[in-house]
Amino acid sequence: MKSVNVPFLDLNALHRPLREQFLAAIGEVIDSSAFAGGPFVAQFERDFAAFCHSRYAAGVGSGTDALWLSLLALGIAPGDEVITVPATFMATAEAISYTGARPVFVDIDPVTYTMNPALLESAITPRTRAIIPVHLYGQMADMDAIMEIARRHGLRVVEDACQAHGAEYKGRRAGSIGDLGCFSFYPGKNLGALGEAGAVVTDDQALAQRIFVLRDHGQERRYHHTRIGWNARMDGIQAACLRIKLRTLERDNAMRRELARAYETGLAGCPNIVTPVTAPGQLHVFHLYAVRVRGRDHLANVLAQRGIATGIHYPKPVHLQEAYQSLGYKPGSFPVAEEWAGEVLSLPMYTQLTFDQVAGVAAELRDALEQQSSQAELSHSL
Ligand SMILES: *Cc1c(COP(=O)(O)O)cnc(C)c1O
Repeated sequence: MKSVNVPFLDLNALHRPLREQFLAAIGEVIDSSAFAGGPFVAQFERDFAAFCHSRYAAGVGSGTDALWLSLLALGIAPGDEVITVPATFMATAEAISYTGARPVFVDIDPVTYTMNPALLESAITPRTRAIIPVHLYGQMADMDAIMEIARRHGLRVVEDACQAHGAEYKGRRAGSIGDLGCFSFYPGKNLGALGEAGAVVTDDQALAQRIFVLRDHGQERRYHHTRIGWNARMDGIQAACLRIKLRTLERDNAMRRELARAYETGLAGCPNIVTPVTAPGQLHVFHLYAVRVRGRDHLANVLAQRGIATGIHYPKPVHLQEAYQSLGYKPGSFPVAEEWAGEVLSLPMYTQLTFDQVAGVAAELRDALEQQSSQAELSHSL
């Protein structure tokens, strides 16, 4: 078989056709000197709020800032508990810790890998203040069930939509269902900046106002600080470039869904693999295309030898990270998330990927899995 050579992500191919537009936009920012916050950020905020079907958007420095400031805006403080999942990027839990609150985890659904609402209630204590569902890989968590439990217990909900720009749950956009929705524009995300950036969306004017104040040193007016904030402003160059990329995000997400369908076709009937499941009522935006396989690390090596780059999102669940030893969780605390971490493998997924490349990756993966399963049979019969 000829080697296919597929990178995991190709930002260069994505940006090359936009280069002239980026340079013109950056030129405008340079000419206006609106580098930190300012009119370019305000314009992007208007566009992004509309995209998310939300009333307000606040541009911030990163997705991590978005999560942290959202929790601060809700008044989360030391002594509080905030519930999230262990199957996420570290930033979700870090944002909780940075408010002084304690992260409390609940396990994930074994099919969608998002928060299992059936386990949520047992994690609620008198100290619980908020819930952060994570829309992992581009599919939203089961928001109806989560919102119902949250409302019944008087808890606030912050959506971690950092992987889910434009995803929908029963026709409602990611970020627009909870009290606040948080987005990352890290370069590799579905909407990526040419650097670091993030945003918070909300329909609640008071919460939006708090984010605007918190991201800018707690100033209501220049040099009048009503609370202790931080510098978490979005920069003008990022906002100007993000506006250009936002115009094609809808189309890009549709392309990701088509590529996911092509993987599905290419891997149909393949032994020992679980491909992503889109739950009913969901519009998936496939930030990542993560399959599940036994012998994941070996398979990743075989694919690498054949020129196919893969990723692991994520190899160690948050509750087992060394940084969170003090929380006292152990292997076995969240068995579904732990199994997930041992088996997930992200295949290349980006809008410049071709259907031929997808077919090539699927064929190589099928070949490797078939070899693995015949070897397993052989060793079984020996
Ligand atoms: C990327 C990401 C973040 C953090 O975003 P940054 O912009 O890198 O700070 C948070 N949560 C999830 C689920 C992410 O994927």
